[in-house]
Amino acid sequence: MECSDYREQMDEYFTGTLEAHRAKALEEHVSTCEGCGHEFADFKHMMEAVAEPIVVPVAFKDELRRAVAKEAKRQLPTAPSFVHIFRNPFFKVLIGATAAALLLLAAGLVWFELILPKETPVTVVTYVEDQSTGMERLVQRGLSQLVPPESATGAAKLLIRYDDAVAGQMDEQAVSVGGEVLNSANRSQPFALYAFSPDVLSFYVNFLKTLGPVEASLPRIGSITSDKVYVIVELGK
Ligand SMILES: [Zn+2]
Repeated sequence: MECSDYREQMDEYFTGTLEAHRAKALEEHVSTCEGCGHEFADFKHMMEAVAEPIVVPVAFKDELRRAVAKEAKRQLPTAPSFVHIFRNPFFKVLIGATAAALLLLAAGLVWFELILPKETPVTVVTYVEDQSTGMERLVQRGLSQLVPPESATGAAKLLIRYDDAVAGQMDEQAVSVGGEVLNSANRSQPFALYAFSPDVLSFYVNFLKTLGPVEASLPRIGSITSDKVYVIVELGK
C-alpha cells in the first residue's frame, strides 16, 4: 500500500467505519511514516475540534453591528467640501459594500470558531475527579472487580433506552477501534464496560454521539498516563 492509500483511509478511520485490521495497518504506517504521521495528527486534531457543538457568543451580533457602524463612520469623509458626496446615492452603495465586506469577515470568524480547538468542554472533568466518579459508578454497578484499582476510568451515559441492537453496536464498535468488551449491556443491567487505549477513546465517544445524546465524564486524553482507560457506558433516559 502506498502513502496515498493510507491517507484516503483516514476519513473512515476517524469516523470509526474502517475495518479493524485496516485501522491497525494504518496506525502502524503513521507511526513510522513522518508525512502521513503529520497528516494523521492534523486530522485527529480537527476531528476533536469539530466534535463539540459550535457556540457563537451571544454578543457576537452586537459586536458585528458595532464594527460595521464604526467602519462606515471611519470611511465617511469629514471635510466640508465632501459634504455633497453624502447626498450622492452612489456613496450609499459604497457604504453597503463596506458592510458586505465586514459580513464576509464575520463569516470568516465563525469559520475559525469552527476549526480552532475549543476550550475543554465542561462535561470533561480532570483525571483525578474522573478516577473517583468512574470508580464510584463501577462499585455501584458491581463491576469494580473487573478493573484494576487506581486505573483511569470514565463514565458516559447514553441518553437512549436500552435496545439489543444498540447494545450490540456498542460492543462491535468497541472491538473495531481496538477496545475490549469487559461487560456487555443487557436488558436487566443496561450498562457496558470497555477498556480502551487512551488514543482511541475519542473515536469511541464520537461513535456514541451518533447513537444519541451523551453525558460524559471522561479523562482528558492528555492527562492519562496509564495505557488503558476503563469506560462504563450506561443506557438510559
Ligand atoms: Zn506514508
